[in-house]
Amino acid sequence: MEFEPVIGLEVHAQLKTKTKIFCGCSTAFGAPPNTHVCPVCLGMPGVLPVLNRQVLAFSLRMALATGCRINQDSRFARKNYFYPDLPKGYQISQYELPVAEHGEIYIETGAGEPRRIGITRIHMEEDAGKLVHDPDRPVSRVDLNRTGVPLIEIVSEPDLRSPEEAGAYLRKLRTIVRYLDICDGNLEEGSFRCDANISIRPVGTTPFGTRAELKNLNSFRNVEKAIYYEIGRQKELLLDGGAVVQETRLWDPERECTTSMRGKEEAHDYRYFPDPDLLPVVVDDEWLAAIRSELPELPDSRRQRFVEAFGLTDYDAARLTADRDLADYFEACLAHAPQAKPAANWILGALMAWLNAEGRSIDQSPVTPEHLGQLLALIDAGTISGKIAKTVFEEMARTGQAPQAIVEARGLVQVSDAGELEAVVTKVLAAAPDEVAAYRQGKKKLMGFFVGQVMRETRGKANPKLVNEILQRMLEA
Ligand code: ADP
Ligand code: MG
Ligand code: ZN
Repeated sequence: MEFEPVIGLEVHAQLKTKTKIFCGCSTAFGAPPNTHVCPVCLGMPGVLPVLNRQVLAFSLRMALATGCRINQDSRFARKNYFYPDLPKGYQISQYELPVAEHGEIYIETGAGEPRRIGITRIHMEEDAGKLVHDPDRPVSRVDLNRTGVPLIEIVSEPDLRSPEEAGAYLRKLRTIVRYLDICDGNLEEGSFRCDANISIRPVGTTPFGTRAELKNLNSFRNVEKAIYYEIGRQKELLLDGGAVVQETRLWDPERECTTSMRGKEEAHDYRYFPDPDLLPVVVDDEWLAAIRSELPELPDSRRQRFVEAFGLTDYDAARLTADRDLADYFEACLAHAPQAKPAANWILGALMAWLNAEGRSIDQSPVTPEHLGQLLALIDAGTISGKIAKTVFEEMARTGQAPQAIVEARGLVQVSDAGELEAVVTKVLAAAPDEVAAYRQGKKKLMGFFVGQVMRETRGKANPKLVNEILQRMLEA
């Protein structure tokens, strides 16, 4: 029997506000334990939370960017459960009336048209604290700095059909939150977290199967691997005549498998009710319009523009716009580079290769977009050859110097003086009488050899087009 996977993701994105969602404590990462806390986020009796306006603004930005319907009147709710990292005994979240619902994003997985993936809802909530387990003793400690750090949870429809689609969806979401500048999107550091719900059903049937929810997916690779593993596990179970149980499972990245963590909680286990300490959240038309008007250009339209305005392939445009910093770099480079296509090639080729090898991101590039643009202008003007440009680029990356300075200091200007090149050609031909004779008898492939000799003589600086012309002329003579 053939099975089809059905996948829905729940993504938590930590918002980049300076202070927490309901108090004025700092959200900065890495402070000594329990130093960014106050009576509100510690859940002391008698305190009152106050919503951070920026959290709502960021949530609305995300909701608008994903085509959601905005609930201009939403509520906070208490989600009750006991855990040592949750001092109040409940998490403030949203339940029946989330800030936004019914959105969508489009994903590309290589083949065919982009696929629409529905977004069920986006809601605001507070993060819990962190337990730090002592590896040597049976002791756990609680750090409450993270308690009350703002999150949005983005819940997808069960529209995804493969691990690759789940990966593409997650990457697209991450690209969007980074374009919006509301979350740094770091899976490894936990500022962007994903739980995956997976079930399978016989191909061609409509009802969904029972799902398992996977946790601890802290890299794109792990997300895809874990889903892939889970699909296999469920298939085997069903083919053996067993049944999938609804539960929460933990991905073990070392052993590359999932293990049962706990039975699945139902909504009623959480005894949700509207939080009586917080006012209803009301968004007026004027503010919503202002937020809408301040949205940046989003990745899909930027990609489209790169194809139409600069004549890039869809593939190159997609790669350049997948990261806002990279797309910004490209456009800054174009302010100095005469042509778009070579700029895209150099950025996606030589520059990315260098950065990857050094483990650096584009905003840490020692080659500024201005300098790369100037390098391309030097090639375009015939001042240096493409080959020499590679050498110049390497030195730019190593030293951060401007290309013009490197070209001048090292005497790399291309030789385009016909007289000077003719002298070199004459010398090269005189030194290779046998090859010259063979060429004249029809062995035209020897042209490459002559060009190579001229390049050697000029240490790569000869203008290749001119060398070819001169060689043709002198050999045919
Ligand atoms: P909960 O909040 O209890 O985890 P939700 O109904 O909000 O449950 O669903 C959470 C996620 O699970 C959503 O992304 C949804 O698309 C997905 N999902 C729901 N049913 C299934 C299913 N049968 N198979 C796979 N994913 C599912
Ligand atoms: Mg869930
Ligand atoms: Zn606080």
